[in-house]
Amino acid sequence: MKRVFLETYGCQMNVADSELMAGVLERAGFTLTGRPEDADAIVLNTCAIREHAEQRVLGRLGDFARLKAARPGLVVGVAGCMAQHLRAKLLDQSRVLDLVVGPDGYRHLPELLRRAADEPVAHVRLDRDETYGDLEPRRGDGVRAWVTIQRGCDKFCTYCVVPYTRGRERSLPLADLVRQVREAVARGFREVVFLGQTVNSYHDGTHDFADLLRAANALEGLLRIRYTSPHPADVGERLIAAMAECPRVCPQVHLPLQSASDRVLEAMRRTYTLDHYRGVVKRLRDAIPGLGLSTDIIVGFPGETEEDFERTCDYMAEVRYDSAFLFKYSARPDTRAHRLPETVSEEEKGRRLTRLIDQQQAISAEINAEWIGREVEVLVEGPARRTPEQLTGKSPQFKTVVFPGDGTRPGTLRRVRVVGATSQTLLGAAVVAAAPRLLPIG
Ligand code: SF4
Repeated sequence: MKRVFLETYGCQMNVADSELMAGVLERAGFTLTGRPEDADAIVLNTCAIREHAEQRVLGRLGDFARLKAARPGLVVGVAGCMAQHLRAKLLDQSRVLDLVVGPDGYRHLPELLRRAADEPVAHVRLDRDETYGDLEPRRGDGVRAWVTIQRGCDKFCTYCVVPYTRGRERSLPLADLVRQVREAVARGFREVVFLGQTVNSYHDGTHDFADLLRAANALEGLLRIRYTSPHPADVGERLIAAMAECPRVCPQVHLPLQSASDRVLEAMRRTYTLDHYRGVVKRLRDAIPGLGLSTDIIVGFPGETEEDFERTCDYMAEVRYDSAFLFKYSARPDTRAHRLPETVSEEEKGRRLTRLIDQQQAISAEINAEWIGREVEVLVEGPARRTPEQLTGKSPQFKTVVFPGDGTRPGTLRRVRVVGATSQTLLGAAVVAAAPRLLPIG
């Protein structure tokens, strides 16, 4: 067995985990292929956060059943949160599967794939000590490197399956992370995004998250630093000061709110109130001028009344996020909220979601329109997806900027004047640096 096809679902943590798996496999002599038809083994790296994500993977396994019927030696595996969530049940349910491997089993992937060629294998033991800090991921192309700094979660929000699928929180040693960032910069990456379920609760026993930001800020060749997602209860003064004082740390925070009703926040066990959250936003905005702010919201949590929902609409109008990821509540087996009776119909969840999307789109469009006429610094990523004759990149606030192609190479910082805007994108014209004025001689 030599060639592996790896397909990723879900969040950036999963994308980073796939890069980790790719590194493990390549070091063991496997090669990665971009086509399942060419593979000796297929691994789906899955997500369990919403039922819909699991349904997509089950559908995809149907496609691979047909491939396997033609090539019975093909090994098919499921990795990640869905593997951990459903465990051996997956092997029983799906006759196409040979391997189920949870998020703490990736170090053993080469050996597991070899064993799975002979008999079905499940490796779903959670390991409190596994951080993969010593393993080098095989990063994809681009200007942005995703670096997992922490695994698991200790918060146990009542709707969330992550603490059960990824285990308890543990942080990678700061020295390993600095080495990873240095290597990424040496390979040409210009931006690093630190990843963790509650990234700002990072602590390796000696250093906290503010120390990590300051250490990364001191690295030569790195242009930008971002992180996702912080927990509002853990945003302290040290973090805010590090953001304000480190020029390479971007003025951008994705700060999940989930609901603006204290009653719902308590039922979700989010461990903060709206007042606390409001205070965090104020301190961040006071310390970091031009802060880009985004969030996650869940509508239709069990017990959410019309009044609770209105509070969320009102607060979102007050705080004016640059953007928001908005979701309908999806009950997940094994979580505490799964035991709560659902009080909001699917139809009503849909109505609330549509209303919030419309409201947020209008706010995003207004905020982006305020950028027209101003200059932004863009880290160029390459040709725009829809209009390849144009270039695209992100502003420090993580806004997508598109501007006419002028040969600027990916990984370069470019000043762009904003000449138009939609709710999603800033449209720009590259600023030509003024020629130095010649002083008259004599
Ligand atoms: S903080 Fe809450 S929502 Fe986020 S991963 Fe942990 S349990 Fe899930």
